[in-house]
Amino acid sequence: MFSPRSIESVILEEGPTMDLSEPRPPASDYFGRLTFTGDVMMRRLPPDVAMSLAATIQHGAPLDPALANTVAAAMKDWAIEHGATHFCHWFHPLTGSTAEKHDAFLSVNSDGIALEKFSGDALIVGEPDASSFPSGGIRDTYEARGYTAWDANSPAFLLTTAEGVTTLCIPTAFVSYTGEALDTKTPLLRSIQAVAKQAMRILKIFGTDAGVSRVVGTLGCEQEYFLVDRSLVNERLDLAVCGRSLVGAMPPKGHQLDDHYFGAIPSRVLSYMTEVETRLFELGIPVKTRHNEVAPGQYEIAPTFETANVAVDHQMVTMHILRDVARNHGFECLLHEKPFAGINGSGKHNNWSLSTDTGVNLLDPRDETHTNMQFLVFLCAVIRAVDLHAELLRASIASAGNDHRLGANEAPPAIMSIYLGEMLTDILDQLESGKPRSTVKGGTLDLGAHSLPIVPRHAGDRNRTSPFAFTGNKFEFRAVGSTTHVAWPNTVLNTMVAESLDFMATELEKRAGRKPTEAKLETAVRGLLKEVVKTHRRVCFDGDGYSTKWHEEAATRGLPNLASAAEALPVIAARDNGKLFSKYGVMSGRELKARSEVLLEQYCTILEIEARTLSTMVRTEILPASIRAQAELADAVGATQVAGVECPDAEQALREHVGTVAALRRGIDAVDAAIASGPHTPEKRARHLRETLVPAMTAVREASDHLESRMPADVWPLPTYAEMLLVGR
Ligand code: ADP
Ligand code: MG
Repeated sequence: MFSPRSIESVILEEGPTMDLSEPRPPASDYFGRLTFTGDVMMRRLPPDVAMSLAATIQHGAPLDPALANTVAAAMKDWAIEHGATHFCHWFHPLTGSTAEKHDAFLSVNSDGIALEKFSGDALIVGEPDASSFPSGGIRDTYEARGYTAWDANSPAFLLTTAEGVTTLCIPTAFVSYTGEALDTKTPLLRSIQAVAKQAMRILKIFGTDAGVSRVVGTLGCEQEYFLVDRSLVNERLDLAVCGRSLVGAMPPKGHQLDDHYFGAIPSRVLSYMTEVETRLFELGIPVKTRHNEVAPGQYEIAPTFETANVAVDHQMVTMHILRDVARNHGFECLLHEKPFAGINGSGKHNNWSLSTDTGVNLLDPRDETHTNMQFLVFLCAVIRAVDLHAELLRASIASAGNDHRLGANEAPPAIMSIYLGEMLTDILDQLESGKPRSTVKGGTLDLGAHSLPIVPRHAGDRNRTSPFAFTGNKFEFRAVGSTTHVAWPNTVLNTMVAESLDFMATELEKRAGRKPTEAKLETAVRGLLKEVVKTHRRVCFDGDGYSTKWHEEAATRGLPNLASAAEALPVIAARDNGKLFSKYGVMSGRELKARSEVLLEQYCTILEIEARTLSTMVRTEILPASIRAQAELADAVGATQVAGVECPDAEQALREHVGTVAALRRGIDAVDAAIASGPHTPEKRARHLRETLVPAMTAVREASDHLESRMPADVWPLPTYAEMLLVGR
């Protein structure tokens, strides 16, 4: 009999921190209440200082250091009024998460007088010990000095815990004593600058730069996640330590009925989402969309897009709040790419575009797209970039977690390709064969019932199997994993597009000459685009990216297919990539090599932690339980035979059980052996673990899942998939 363990939610004694029974004020009343921007700045800073800081925040203008003391004092007063006792420089080390070192505002002078203090210097620069952060060989352990530097472009904010501890967080970059980036923000900011500079050249060529002072990257990240009852997570070492289940038999029902996607949101989940949204709104994070995702227990949250740097910071805060608030509702929020084998995993769609600071989206095709030569230049530049740098783009999303997703028929394959849709594909055809003359229109859909409206139809469909899809007026990089810190893939994307726009601008300047007539420019553009389309359109593919046919076709097109992170990550430090990043001032060769080393080390460390977790679970929980079940079965066989009754079926079941237990023991020995042996240099170790450890872990899982599906439920020591995903929702 299926008897789920008691799923008593571990909702904190006092319950969720928000009372949802009271009518709530509209979100616009408290949006951004906990950020030092907008109204707060205007009210608290002298007008000239406020204007100067606003120019930095909104337009990236350099901040006058002379204003720092005034800004710091106002920030401190505001933070203290909201209950803050400490401030921190909040930064993004190469760990893939964020870091913060808190300092009290309190300071005691030589007369023993205690005062709250926060100077301009403390706002602008911090000096944390950098030796315990990964540096990929840039620094030795004894070379400890590092600096954090205020990124005034991203507003400071107040983080409050459920218990009411409030800290002022100041977004910063993090560099070593030698000035090299030890974080993901510094290269991101440099890449935003690089792509903006090249984009401006294109605008100048088309004469559309009037009134534009700069181009900005825009970014909106859809985040998928699972919610699992916390009491169950606490009973599973794998979920608690690794964020994913390392064993677990399939439940009788997954998402075959497609009844979870966009289904009615369970009320406990909706309360959770409401608290998440409220906290994000207070932090000035414009979350917009919430819904059930494909898998049972899986959900999504998506913001309205923002400028790339701010969007990246906000994405990191969103992941933090998703995890933090889950505890108030008795949930654990799992952000892992593949918490449950056989059940859809989680991604983070990275919606990316470029825009002028006057608000013109440079990837908006507009109505008569075939006449919109500037758009076509940007589009073809992206196509060229993805084709030329497909391996690097693939490597930018490579991780141990994402290895379970990419190419697993639920997420885009590891082959980078672009979905364009019918209208743009038709325009590429026209560009390739000469002069584009028309734009395919979507038309309308008549639904056949008079009471229903006529629906305007898009000129292109959607394609969920494409890793990099054009979705109307932006590119959606769909292959990004759900735990990914998006600074890195966006740094790669910006840099490779910067290179491609540079190529386009240089060619157009050469072909059309200075101050060309409209006709001459058009001829130059058409000529260039024709060549680019011919050479690079092999990377465009609108069909089913999951199919084996595409894998074969992609191979004949010569598109790279780096199936795992062990193969993809070493590409980052390839010589051409070193040149690419240094040419555009995004990263030095040393900085790039460091990144590649850190990512490879992380990959190995994650696999080794998973292996040790699996070994512990198998040896201390699953094997002992299996032996208990074996003894029960053997007793039953013995007692039955003593009673003079033959029981060949039970004997066979016992034999089979003993065989599976032996296989499990052999398997876990192989897992232990795989991590105890092998080379130590990161690249070789990654390959070794991929080739020996991963298959050994799969074999253990098979034996364990077989036992789980046969053993008495009351003897099986772990919460099952059915309990975690289907019961109590
Ligand atoms: P879907 O699930 O169909 O992909 P959503 O509406 O859920 O669509 O998500 C689309 C995401 O793309 C949102 O986060 C949105 O803000 C973002 N987005 C829209 N326009 C742009 C743009 N110009 N630049 C960057 N992101 C954008
Ligand atoms: Mg999407």
